[in-house]
Amino acid sequence: MPGFEVFGAEERKQVNDVLETGVLMRYGFEGMRNNHFKAKEFEVAFAERMQSKYCQLVSSGTSALTIALAAAGIGAGDEVIMPTFTFVASFESIMMLGAVPVLVDIDDTLTLDPSAVEAAITSKTKCVMPVHMCGSMADLKALKTICDKHDLLLLEDACQAIGGTFEGKPLGSYGDLGCFSFDYVKTITCGEGGGIITNNKQYAINADQFQDHGHDHIGNDRGAETHPTLGYNFRISELNAAVGLAQLDKLDSILSVQKENYMILRKALAQIEGVTFRRVPEGGVENYSFLNFYLPTEALAKAAHKAMIKVGVDVCFYWYTNNWHYINGWEHLRNLKSMGNLPLEIKTQMQDLNATDFSKSDAWMSRTISSLVKIGWTHKEVETRAAKMAEAIRSVLA
Ligand SMILES: *Cc1c(COP(=O)(O)O)cnc(C)c1O
Repeated sequence: MPGFEVFGAEERKQVNDVLETGVLMRYGFEGMRNNHFKAKEFEVAFAERMQSKYCQLVSSGTSALTIALAAAGIGAGDEVIMPTFTFVASFESIMMLGAVPVLVDIDDTLTLDPSAVEAAITSKTKCVMPVHMCGSMADLKALKTICDKHDLLLLEDACQAIGGTFEGKPLGSYGDLGCFSFDYVKTITCGEGGGIITNNKQYAINADQFQDHGHDHIGNDRGAETHPTLGYNFRISELNAAVGLAQLDKLDSILSVQKENYMILRKALAQIEGVTFRRVPEGGVENYSFLNFYLPTEALAKAAHKAMIKVGVDVCFYWYTNNWHYINGWEHLRNLKSMGNLPLEIKTQMQDLNATDFSKSDAWMSRTISSLVKIGWTHKEVETRAAKMAEAIRSVLA
């Protein structure tokens, strides 16, 4: 997955364009910047690549999620349905706005279980936020049907699945809004950065204003701009955007190498009785950044993971006990540990996560192992890795 593996002369050239002018700000300074607008250029190229009308670049994937929610009018007390398996940014972005995260089970897609989503809808629900974890996607068709029926917003977190598709559409472009991260370990990186895509003009205008203190961005005199709304500073810098531009050019070649390497690993594991693979919803195509598979039981998954590490198989994850990605590790969320007082809506409305039954999620997560798919592996390295993984897994199943 990580685009840092292919960092090179193209990124340096883009960054140098910016360094030569010294204008690190995406707005203003027209006379000094030698006509370089890297953030704007990235936005135009990214919107086109993602087959969307609008793109807003911002400072991170986490801020992209916050801004997307805010741009669509989500605020205090509104409920946002999200999965138990994700990155902490999901609930962080919701709670930033005083909105209330509602956590529901995942299924064998390792993403939102549509029936669990429908069961969690209340009069306060405003948005469903599927997270396309580890290169594959939620059942967007089923979720869209639910959202249409209940008049809810569909916001895709595509931070880990850039380049994947559903029914021919790029992930992130299927729902009302889609969010991406370009942090240092993502498929394409700009150090720190994020993006929001949408076809909704008003959401695009709102996102543009919210990420820059509410500035209207009309005309060329920043000092004369008005502020139609409150906002914050979630801007991306020209330096980061410049790196992202070079990386975006490499996205399609990254995806094709990932697919090749993924297929080699998958073929080796498919021959093992007892190994099954994560379900990809009908109509979906992965971005192949991870290979995700199941062992028959929790004990066997733990043992297989341990056996692989022992023989030197790196970047292989057992998320069930990983504190970044699964609810089991989020003690701070379960007990609402914050530095200051939380908004009243969160304190009064939030489900008791310590008392909620997530055994359906546990049943899948406890059996899941994910191997990262690197771009820099040589053919021989992938073959060796595949053989080592297969041998380690066979040893615990024997
Ligand atoms: C990385 C990531 C984010 C947050 O992105 P940052 O740029 O690190 O803030 C959000 N959601 C998912 C699923 C991610 O993997």
